[in-house]
Amino acid sequence: MPQKSTQETNQLPLKFNIEAQDGEARAGILTTRRGQIETPVFMPVGTAGTVKGIRFEELESADLDAGIILGNTYHLWLRPGIDVIRSAGGLHRFIGWDRALLTDSGGFQVWSLGALRKITEEGTEFRSHVDGSLKFLSPEVSMEVQAALGSDIVMAFDECAPGKAAHEETERSMNLTTRWAKRSRDAFDRLQSEGADTGRLEVAGLSGRQALFGIVQGASHLDLRRQSLEQTVEIGFDGYAIGGLSVGEEKSVMFEVIDDVAPRMPATKPRYLMGVGTPEDLVEAVARGIDMFDCVLPTRNGRTGQAFTSRGKLNIKNAQWTNNSRPLDESCRCSVCRRHSRAYLRHLYMSGEMLASILLTHHNLAFFLDTMRGVRQSIRSGDFPKFRREFTERLDANGE
Ligand SMILES: [Zn+2]
Repeated sequence: MPQKSTQETNQLPLKFNIEAQDGEARAGILTTRRGQIETPVFMPVGTAGTVKGIRFEELESADLDAGIILGNTYHLWLRPGIDVIRSAGGLHRFIGWDRALLTDSGGFQVWSLGALRKITEEGTEFRSHVDGSLKFLSPEVSMEVQAALGSDIVMAFDECAPGKAAHEETERSMNLTTRWAKRSRDAFDRLQSEGADTGRLEVAGLSGRQALFGIVQGASHLDLRRQSLEQTVEIGFDGYAIGGLSVGEEKSVMFEVIDDVAPRMPATKPRYLMGVGTPEDLVEAVARGIDMFDCVLPTRNGRTGQAFTSRGKLNIKNAQWTNNSRPLDESCRCSVCRRHSRAYLRHLYMSGEMLASILLTHHNLAFFLDTMRGVRQSIRSGDFPKFRREFTERLDANGE
């Protein structure tokens, strides 16, 4: 263990208080060194230091009011590189965002490269998609990059098994993830004691350090998921994530895993379901005890002309909206729905106007964040089962 001052030994990098519970669903407050976040929370994904298609002012506006966003270690490490971000004083300063940031470890991105990468005990070797150069990512490198980024929540470096991987292959991968989790923990602690964290911030009641989350793997094999959880909890983290879901397995399998794993996760720590999912996935996972989510769907689909609404998905390219004066979603209070019609949004999209992506992204994020607001309120008022039932029933309308 690195040397710690007395003050730091007593104080954690973040606090998590559960204030209401309805079944397995929890509503709480996650206090980070950059502010309080109400949970369950959806975190917009800011891959390359930008949540694509939306300005930070909008993310902070009452419309969206995102308390925390994601940054991707893999992308930022390759471009612009950590020297640029370190010299800017960390990722918060570089991008101009004072609220909380979570960075992933890069494990999932290099895993997604498929045949282009080689995994060994030491780490992962791959070719950069930016300039084709040979790169090497390991727990130690990932922790170093995330310290330079100065994110408030750091993710351990993991390996993901394919959603349908066999037991033997998954077990090998899961055990590697455990060994990498231990190496992540050690490297993280060393970097914190060396002062490598560029985002360090003195806050009353908190240590001012980065927080580190561990990741539970094991694909669809419940025995391996349980082992992975035990091993990860034994190492000890500030929060726990379920990784390796929504990677090609059936949706029923995903919920089977969440059903089994979430209630066994430490009750007093935040539980984060990585990379999931649609609005209905979020509501269903909250019902199983999940507190944190991230997904590219609202931004990515916004750019391809698809809107998420309280009455299901709506494809703005569809000719049926040509003269339609209604907003995307009559029950949405976002600035796009207050001002613009489906006909106008369709016109923008069909004309290739960049504003189409911007407006659809804005609405989609508003819908995701507002759904979570509704989830939190209903858990606090003891109405979550009713909220969940009505939410699901409305979604079948196909945007109509
Ligand atoms: Zn809207």
